[in-house]
Amino acid sequence: MRPDNSATGRDLGEFRAAAREWLEANTAPRLGDVWGSGDDGVGLFPRWERTDAAELIAAARAWLAQRHDAGFGGITLPTEWGGQGLTPLHDVAYEAEESQRDVPPSEIWNIGQHMVMPAIVRFGDGAQRAQLVGPGVRGELLFCQLFSEPDAGSDLASLRTSATWRDGAWVVDGQKVWTSVAHAADYGMLLARTDPDAPRHHGITCFLLPMNAPGVTVRPIKQITGGRSFNEVFFDGVVVDDALRLGDVGAGWAITRATLATERVSLPLNGPHASTDRLIELAKRQHRIDDPVVRQRLADVVARKRIAELTLERAQAASDLDDVHGPHPSLLKLMATDMLTRMGATAGAVLGPALVADTGDWGTYAWNTHLLESAGLRIGGGTDEIQRNVIGEAALGLPREPTGAR
Ligand SMILES: Cc1cc2nc3c(=O)[nH]c(=O)nc-3n(C[C@H](O)[C@H](O)[C@H](O)COP(=O)(O)OP(=O)(O)OC[C@H]3O[C@@H](n4cnc5c(N)ncnc54)[C@H](O)[C@@H]3O)c2cc1C
Repeated sequence: MRPDNSATGRDLGEFRAAAREWLEANTAPRLGDVWGSGDDGVGLFPRWERTDAAELIAAARAWLAQRHDAGFGGITLPTEWGGQGLTPLHDVAYEAEESQRDVPPSEIWNIGQHMVMPAIVRFGDGAQRAQLVGPGVRGELLFCQLFSEPDAGSDLASLRTSATWRDGAWVVDGQKVWTSVAHAADYGMLLARTDPDAPRHHGITCFLLPMNAPGVTVRPIKQITGGRSFNEVFFDGVVVDDALRLGDVGAGWAITRATLATERVSLPLNGPHASTDRLIELAKRQHRIDDPVVRQRLADVVARKRIAELTLERAQAASDLDDVHGPHPSLLKLMATDMLTRMGATAGAVLGPALVADTGDWGTYAWNTHLLESAGLRIGGGTDEIQRNVIGEAALGLPREPTGAR
């Protein structure tokens, strides 16, 4: 049953209590929360290699529909398009509660919920919102982000995938890389060059590309952990209707900047990978909790996590999370990735050789995956160095980088 706003409550505390109550009534606690029980994984990406991908995707869709029916779908999206019209803080509070429960991995829908759908709401037309946002909130559609290319990552504006206007439609050719969940997505938010002669930031246009269109090939990339969360995506004469162009021709760069800022604002600090309680329990079980250096490192990560959470609240209070030129999105992303990197290193210091050789003890070797995967977060969504450049320019007023370095 879908409660009205008075049931979910706009007050943050009430909203969170309602979310907790509903989640407790409708889901099981996450396995692995009790030491020695269930899956001991602390990785950051879904374990696609261990599960049936189609089953996992179907479970994610069903979960999105269930939470939408309960009034917890698309929390920051407008009510007109099936969302709840609430703030990013409500979203963070809900996610903190949901991460305690046994539900499908949020990585499957995060890009759609936090990046693509907000971009469609902001820059799309009425038909696009109706066709993609409502179904997206209900889990009928999943999304990926087709931005990076082999020679265009940090310097995204040098992208070469082209969209050419031919016989009344756009024809897309080229390649993307590192596309998270492309193998699960129904639509990809694509950046393509539509005017090779325009200054490079002006010649880019954004499209909402159906991933099942003829000419789209998705190839998984095998990670160092054995996982397969990312893909290469190839476009070979893919025909895209003009109705699926997001924003004006040549206006893709402004949309990109706004989308990347939302990406950096969604802190990856919920779930087992960010559980400082789990890390402290590990130190106890390994009889390292009385070691003063270990204690200092544990206190350090606990404090850093709290500071990141408080910084998010402060940014929200200042209402500048939507300011794509401001420093907060970059600051928050740096804080989160730095904290997770320190967590993995602390686990390594506690475990010693058991980090790299599987002894079979529950909750130990699992940190190997954490250490390897948290490095990826320092790259995805803009590298640490790029975030520091943004903070230097936007917050500290340092001179912009020389154009030769871009
Ligand atoms: C976990 C993960 C998920 C991802 N998901 C997606 C996705 O869904 N969709 C998508 O499109 N892409 C995705 N990516 C790709 C990601 O956006 C790029 O990898 C990232 O932007 C960096 O680009 P690059 O790999 O080309 O590295 P490069 O840009 O070549 O950078 C190489 C090194 O040079 C440094 N560097 C580059 N320019 C500067 C500069 N101006 N100043 C200082 N240092 C600099 C970088 O910091 C880095 O250390 C993902 C990547 C990861 C790791």
